[in-house]
Amino acid sequence: MYQRGRAWIELNLSHLAHNVKEFQKILPEKCSLMPAIKANAYGHGAALIGRSLENMGISDFCVASLGEAIELRNAGITGQILILGYTSPRQFSELSRYRLTQTVIDLSYARQLNDFGEPVCVHVSIDTGMHRLGERSENTEQICQIWKLKNLRITGVFSHLCTADGHSAADHWFTLEQINRFNANIDFLHKQGFSGFKTHLQSSYGVLNYPDLNYDYARIGIALYGVLSSSTDNITAEADLKPVLSLKSRIECVKELHAGESIGYGLTFTAPKEMKIAAVSIGYADGIPRELSNKGHVLVHGKKAAIIGRICMDQLLIDASKLSHVSSGDEVVLIGSCGGEMLSAAKIAEYSNTISNEILSRLGNRLERIPIEI
Ligand SMILES: *Cc1c(COP(=O)(O)O)cnc(C)c1O
Repeated sequence: MYQRGRAWIELNLSHLAHNVKEFQKILPEKCSLMPAIKANAYGHGAALIGRSLENMGISDFCVASLGEAIELRNAGITGQILILGYTSPRQFSELSRYRLTQTVIDLSYARQLNDFGEPVCVHVSIDTGMHRLGERSENTEQICQIWKLKNLRITGVFSHLCTADGHSAADHWFTLEQINRFNANIDFLHKQGFSGFKTHLQSSYGVLNYPDLNYDYARIGIALYGVLSSSTDNITAEADLKPVLSLKSRIECVKELHAGESIGYGLTFTAPKEMKIAAVSIGYADGIPRELSNKGHVLVHGKKAAIIGRICMDQLLIDASKLSHVSSGDEVVLIGSCGGEMLSAAKIAEYSNTISNEILSRLGNRLERIPIEI
């Protein structure tokens, strides 16, 4: 099939390699990257991103689900794959078949894993304050019991920070509290004579704002793709991150719109004067938030063009009045650079009241993912 036909993603793998090196510089020497390549590698394409990271020498990965882990194995990933979320006991046999590492959610889940009757590789999740998954940090008796279960091969223990992106005194205080609780759990386990497990706490903002912490892995997602969650975020570490993904589409048709005519579903935009408009072959089914209707813009020939009318499932309309030579087949940039202009995922997130993580992870299956050699 012809690539770059209707709408597609371009992946700059040199930027990915650059970001990996940047994080290796920031992290303490003994800390390895465990890239988060869940949600189709934040929309970038899990197999492609996983394989290129493995080629860069990375050997540990984390995903959200069993299905994502199996997809990576089938794509040829040979390293450790940690499933961060719930796997049903009915699927426990798949864990050993695909050589996967399962998160222990709490003591009761640990017992279910143990009852499966065969050895399973696991990392134990500790709840230090997020109150999502994990055995509660203060439940040291329960944590000990997890370690005593015969069929669990415990190769790691981890927790997750929930205010590491913030800079208020309260955010810092809470993060330090979580760090202290996690460290106390590790000390306790060592004192009990348990050893041979790796530790990890930080995700992107944990590393970017607390770069001096010293654990065995850092589970980095969004920032490895060269993107911050919000364009207004400040970070403590000096990190030069370069966006890996660009999102592009094409003009389908160009037409005149007469003053007073309205366009699209619900006729939500009315031409104040004679205009030139264009239809672009990408819509909300591809992951463009419908929230961007009559907001935001795209880039055509290095110039901004406003999105007008409601975004449709497969298409959207733009104001092409200021574009001189626009015609069917011309390239449209929705995320990325064009000429001197740049449209970031974080900017689109800002227009649609969310974070870039959500924008990227929702990019649809119809988009071809194309690695760009530079
Ligand atoms: C998604 C996720 C990560 C990665 O988070 P980023 O903020 O994208 O770096 C790390 N750890 C856990 C438990 C996660 O769910």
